[in-house]
Amino acid sequence: MKKMKTKYALLAVVTALLLGAAAGWRSDSPNETVQAKSHHKPIVIQGPMPIEAEKFAQKLKNVKVEKSGTFVFYKGTLNHYPVIVAKTGKGMENTAAATSIAIEKYHPIAIINQGTSGGHDPELNVFDIVLGKQTVNLGSLRTGEKGEGEGMDPAAWKPMDLMASEGSAGEDPNAEKPRFYAGNKDLLEAANEVKDKYTKGKVVEGTIGSADVWNNEVDRIKWFHSKYGTSVEEMEGASAAQMAQAYNVPFLGIRVLSNNKTNGGKYNPNTAEACQNYVYQVVEKYISEIPNK
Ligand code: SAH
Repeated sequence: MKKMKTKYALLAVVTALLLGAAAGWRSDSPNETVQAKSHHKPIVIQGPMPIEAEKFAQKLKNVKVEKSGTFVFYKGTLNHYPVIVAKTGKGMENTAAATSIAIEKYHPIAIINQGTSGGHDPELNVFDIVLGKQTVNLGSLRTGEKGEGEGMDPAAWKPMDLMASEGSAGEDPNAEKPRFYAGNKDLLEAANEVKDKYTKGKVVEGTIGSADVWNNEVDRIKWFHSKYGTSVEEMEGASAAQMAQAYNVPFLGIRVLSNNKTNGGKYNPNTAEACQNYVYQVVEKYISEIPNK
């Protein structure tokens, strides 16, 4: 009798193992998919301020919080795919550092830098969203030559491309133009594919300008708009784009207008949440298309 029981138990174990293995080999097995996806490279979603990052982080499952310096990384999953929300802090320096750290530590498949921005285009209203077909540093400038007592002339300042060469940018005529970082094609495609799901405003492709400056002078904003073609300004995108390019990681900036000085659009912090909800849809779409890439 005892022998029989052992035999049945053994048979049950062998059957369970075989069934388990068969399920593992089937590509549609939910367990297998979860396991495979957890080995995928994560997508990093960056937001500068708590209102621009935490709503997205709250939507992730299985979240573990990791800190590095002042940077906070919410490591979780979205539809079983690894996604990391990075709260970078405001400005170019914080963002460059947080981007490099994320790349070195987590080896992301893609980075999205998102959040609020100020409009440079009078056609765009608060709650509209700009997909960064390109991103440019608006603070990288060389002033004209003027002696003591000759004053200042910001309209004559020239763009300066610090990546043009390893030599002196001041002496290099090739450096006298802005450097535009192109948004990744697949990320842009995913963003365009879900733009109809955004109901609070329109979603357009455009140019995102960044600097540690908040411009409130309408003539200066117009100057950037005509010289650089900027749709919006903020304080992070170009530095994240520069780091992503340095490491060859696909990148896209996505910015909601929280204010627009050119058409009287008043600052509205609720735009930050609307942007995160839209970016969530973009990430879902991008993840769903990864197997086709
Ligand atoms: N009014 C906000 C200021 C935030 S500081 C407050 O008092 O809390 C600037 C942040 O908002 C940056 O992360 C930047 O990316 C974004 N931003 C929004 N509108 C901007 C604008 N018009 N110019 C520059 N940055 C802007």
